[in-house]
Amino acid sequence: MHRIVVVGGGIAGIVVATHMGRRSGGRNETSILLVDRNPAHVWKPMLHTFAAGTATYANESIPFVSQAKRAGFHFWPGTLAGLDRAAGEVELGPVRLPDGVSELPGRRVPFDTLVIAVGSRANDFGTPGVAEHCRFIDNIGEAERFGALLRTRIAQAVAEDRDVSVAIVGGGATGVELAAELRLSADILSSYATWHRASRLQLTLIESGPHLVAGFPEEISDAVKRKLGQLRVEVRLDTKVVGADEMGVLLEGGGRVDADLMAWVAGVKAPDVLKHLDGLEVARNGQLLVRPTLQTTTDDRIFALGDCARFEGANGKPLPTTAQVARQQAQFLARSLRRHLRWGRPLRPFTFRNRGSLVSLGDYAAYGTLGNYGFFSGGVIRGRLAELGHAALYRQHQMDLTGLLRGGATWLGSDLMRVGRSRVVLS
Ligand SMILES: Cc1cc2nc3c(=O)[nH]c(=O)nc-3n(C[C@H](O)[C@H](O)[C@H](O)COP(=O)(O)OP(=O)(O)OC[C@H]3O[C@@H](n4cnc5c(N)ncnc54)[C@H](O)[C@@H]3O)c2cc1C
Repeated sequence: MHRIVVVGGGIAGIVVATHMGRRSGGRNETSILLVDRNPAHVWKPMLHTFAAGTATYANESIPFVSQAKRAGFHFWPGTLAGLDRAAGEVELGPVRLPDGVSELPGRRVPFDTLVIAVGSRANDFGTPGVAEHCRFIDNIGEAERFGALLRTRIAQAVAEDRDVSVAIVGGGATGVELAAELRLSADILSSYATWHRASRLQLTLIESGPHLVAGFPEEISDAVKRKLGQLRVEVRLDTKVVGADEMGVLLEGGGRVDADLMAWVAGVKAPDVLKHLDGLEVARNGQLLVRPTLQTTTDDRIFALGDCARFEGANGKPLPTTAQVARQQAQFLARSLRRHLRWGRPLRPFTFRNRGSLVSLGDYAAYGTLGNYGFFSGGVIRGRLAELGHAALYRQHQMDLTGLLRGGATWLGSDLMRVGRSRVVLS
């Protein structure tokens, strides 16, 4: 039996494991094992909503064990810690168990084919004080901790009848979406006794470049900036953060922005463990270098995809770290690997098809581009259409994993539940 191990069950990893599991159709030719350090899959582009308290992990996650049962693969909780290529084994470090105290010990897992999909995180570029004083929202634990801290600061401020300030560093899609979601949260929390104005939550968004959401056309950057202005978010462009302390962030040229809470959502780097994987080649930001087939440059049996891989597009530039790239690569790899393993067909080169990008400012606005394909190629959308497109990306992913019927029912169910339940997490 050919042993495929997929490490990382985010957007890319869970799609590879699900598609390959389903297509193996119970045949005893391949076994698929998915490893993740968390017990459940989340759609990472939602993390800022968990941080703002406008969505909850329990409602929006898919436990790996139930997905494994549904799709015909196995799951093992573990943290990628190393690699022994000669032995063909992945080394897994221990993981914390649900009681928060006990640990599942590490182990070595043998593989014939290894797929690495451990994602990325924000990059503080070693800026002094950031690791200690700023909050990151790169995984569910960090997003929930940010949310808990925010609610604590707000409760204290309500009791003392004062404002709370949040500084967000990074004006990419994550930063602008987080700012809008925090404003939505504050709108709802303004029914706290002394917090009658949503503006009691002061929001500052700091971006080192001249535009917000720099990957989008300028008309979208400008529209996003205008909208955030209307939402009383202070936007500071061309402003570089050079340090952080417990009171706020320090700016190049000597200024500072004081804040009760700082979120760092700028830059991208791959997890540090990838630099120590038995000689696999990495780029400067730690991403694994891959060939057009998504095989690593060093080892034919080892593949990498999604945010943790550096894949050069047709123009020689690396593909962006987005959900769209991760999903396309995963769907492609599952197909290509299956043909290769079952029928001995050569692995094919991956080609990215840009289907456009979307940015959503919570309940307030959404904008998007239509990509390079189809009749409206190169167009710009906004309003309800863009909002629907943004929601559809996530729901399409859910349907892909759980099936059309179950995924559709989940979409409907979660929209219906929104009517009844609190719009923001309060405890
Ligand atoms: C707040 C936020 C908002 C975003 N918004 C958008 C958006 O609107 N549109 C868009 O296209 N993209 C967005 N992105 C980027 C998008 O989420 C990523 O590009 C996408 O998730 C990449 O998929 P992936 O499978 O490579 O990694 P991930 O989805 O990050 O999955 C990585 C998986 O690996 C696991 N893992 C990590 N390290 C280890 C380890 N050492 N051992 C075992 N398991 C490990 C993690 O638990 C996780 O399950 C956003 C990102 C963030 C943080």
